[in-house]
Amino acid sequence: MKTHYQVVIVGGGTAGITVAAQLLRQSKRFQHEIAIIDPAEKHYYQPLWTLVGGGAAKKQATERTMESVIPEGADWIQQRVATFDPDNNAVTTESGNTITYNYLVVAAGIEINWDGVKGLKETIGKNNVCTNYSYDYVDYTWESIRNFKGGNAIFTNPNTPVKCGGAPQKIMYLAEEAFRRAGVRNQANVIFGSAKPEIFDVPAYKPVLEGIIHDRNIDAKYHMNLVEVRGDKKEAVFENLQTGELETISFEMLHVTPPMQAPRFIKTSPLADEAGWVDVHKYTLQHVRYPNVFGLGDSSNLPTSKTGAAIRKQAPVVVKNLLALMQEKPLSANYNGYTSCPLVTGYGNLVLAEFDYDKNPQESMPFNQAKERTSMYYFKKDFLPIMYWDGMLKGIM
Ligand SMILES: Cc1cc2nc3c(=O)[nH]c(=O)nc-3n(C[C@H](O)[C@H](O)[C@H](O)COP(=O)(O)OP(=O)(O)OC[C@H]3O[C@@H](n4cnc5c(N)ncnc54)[C@H](O)[C@@H]3O)c2cc1C
Repeated sequence: MKTHYQVVIVGGGTAGITVAAQLLRQSKRFQHEIAIIDPAEKHYYQPLWTLVGGGAAKKQATERTMESVIPEGADWIQQRVATFDPDNNAVTTESGNTITYNYLVVAAGIEINWDGVKGLKETIGKNNVCTNYSYDYVDYTWESIRNFKGGNAIFTNPNTPVKCGGAPQKIMYLAEEAFRRAGVRNQANVIFGSAKPEIFDVPAYKPVLEGIIHDRNIDAKYHMNLVEVRGDKKEAVFENLQTGELETISFEMLHVTPPMQAPRFIKTSPLADEAGWVDVHKYTLQHVRYPNVFGLGDSSNLPTSKTGAAIRKQAPVVVKNLLALMQEKPLSANYNGYTSCPLVTGYGNLVLAEFDYDKNPQESMPFNQAKERTSMYYFKKDFLPIMYWDGMLKGIM
């Protein structure tokens, strides 16, 4: 095994593969000088999991082998990184190998904290307790929606950063419509139990979502953080974050967005900020203490919503600045915090939210995007997956 690379990329998810593919397009000199270290057998297009959970897409369409997405010319080291030693330009894997680098890119995603809610691990995938946040359970969401006959259908949103801030509510809108179609809506209370203080924190898109919540008679409960699930009793326990009081709500169906956190091996490394994320400059994406290290994607501390769409704008900034650094030129590329949340609001409806660090809209379409649109639903369902597999992961978008 080769033990030194010009560029080492930790994580072969959306961000890692995109950066590797773009670098390889830039110059032939990167052939076999880029290592992607990732233990996973499979690579997932996670944005489609919302539609899989809603019964509108097949989960198999979201999965490919890691081997098939590793760009030609990059070396894949199928191992798990255990520690970083940025003072010596080295990473060590759980198998005990040390790989050294000239430049490091960290893109290891976010970690789901299944233990963060008491009882969740024991009941997820059973007792109508489901989640779209895992390939293993995502089709159980659709099974739970399809089998729902009435009672409380609860959708949660935790008190932590999550990937795709809008996803906890998207599945609720699909379920609500599915209940109407199945003729069980009158027997259902659709409840959004969210730790956040409001439905969406971008002013341009908040009113349309508030209107939907109102018109579809959804009971939105804010400052409510799920702390325990009693699967056998079908009870969800929430902590009211304003009063500290606990409230138990019974359910017939519970969709959980689990709490998430920075990956532990990053948290305990010299690369982390106080909260555990890779500590990067918010415009250049260069590490604040180690100039030959860059970070992007969900494991970075960029103060924006963690999405694949954000990575589409972050990756070219990392690549340009990395190339500039290699040539000892100033880093001139800047990321403005762009992120996008395609808020699915029903089967055939979507509000395409796009915004920057300041929560100002950064829209790509020549029309008012703060409106439900059928065209944008099909854009997400049919066009974005193609753009992902054939464009972004090939380094051409
Ligand atoms: C239900 C759901 C809906 C979503 N909806 C949208 C949407 O509509 N639009 C959108 O843009 N985004 C959406 N997202 C978010 C998007 O999928 C993520 O933001 C994106 O995949 C993050 O990319 P990443 O490369 O940072 O992490 P990931 O793609 O998660 O990849 C991280 C990689 O790091 C690897 N890794 C972890 N630990 C180690 C280690 N110790 N050593 C080496 N490798 C390691 C993992 O194996 C993995 O391959 C959604 C996500 C979910 C779950």
